[in-house]
Amino acid sequence: MLIDYHMHLQPDGVGERAAQAPGWDADGGHLSQAWMRRYVDRAAALGVDEIAFTEHDYRFSALVGWHASPFWNAEATADVDAYCEAVGDAQKAGLPVLLGIEADWLPDRVDDMRAFLAAHPFDVVLGSVHWVGEMSVDDPGDPPVGAHTAEEVWDGYLDQLIAAAGSGLFDVLAHPDLPKVFGDRMPQSLEHRFDDVIAAIARAGVAIECSSAGFRKPVGELYPSPALLARFREAGVPVTLASDAHRPADVAAGFSTAVAALRGAGYEHLTRFRGREPQPTPIRSWA
Ligand SMILES: [Zn+2]
Ligand SMILES: [Zn+2]
Repeated sequence: MLIDYHMHLQPDGVGERAAQAPGWDADGGHLSQAWMRRYVDRAAALGVDEIAFTEHDYRFSALVGWHASPFWNAEATADVDAYCEAVGDAQKAGLPVLLGIEADWLPDRVDDMRAFLAAHPFDVVLGSVHWVGEMSVDDPGDPPVGAHTAEEVWDGYLDQLIAAAGSGLFDVLAHPDLPKVFGDRMPQSLEHRFDDVIAAIARAGVAIECSSAGFRKPVGELYPSPALLARFREAGVPVTLASDAHRPADVAAGFSTAVAALRGAGYEHLTRFRGREPQPTPIRSWA
């Protein structure tokens, strides 16, 4: 089968959501079954059998103040219980959707995060290193990124990724080589450090995602790169497939290339989740 285990029901940012709101307002809101069905229909049209909604943790008011960033705190307005209930209702109505969340790795909030995740009936929890301390790795508007060399950003990021893998908080690590988003690929001098990252992820038994989102970013390639994907495969790290869509039109985008890369790396199985329990399933060929 094919899956898409990373998507959002709305775009990021107060202004962008206001601009896009007519799309879901006409359906009865972004938590309506009609709006979710647009994601399901798009997936089905591209041969994808099962999708997971994985809303950002920072969208929820329960997490206000967990990070000092003004962006984070402006975003934290939604009700997590309403989100869980809406996806649960869609499941009861027979839609092939999972309840997921994209949770940030915040090293000083490990216990809070563990309690938050345990308090909700998630099927799958993505772990994302979007922040290295105060620095946002993938926000083009955040000046601290420009104030650091690629080497500094990558070095700090890899430390955090190893810590996130070992935390036991997450089922899947999202976009594992994210700092390349604007085109700064991992410096050659840090190449060897990814061996430690892969070993830590393999030891923790966490999956990674193969994400097509990078095709829609300046870097223009998969997360992780095909060469890294092969190294994960060699280490026996399980994998999911992900678009990181923030609107129905991007569901399963670029999956023909992603599936070919998975096969090229030697992967024959994707990992499905249900109630946070992994289950390998053979990758169906791209039709
Ligand atoms: Zn992310
Ligand atoms: Zn995402």
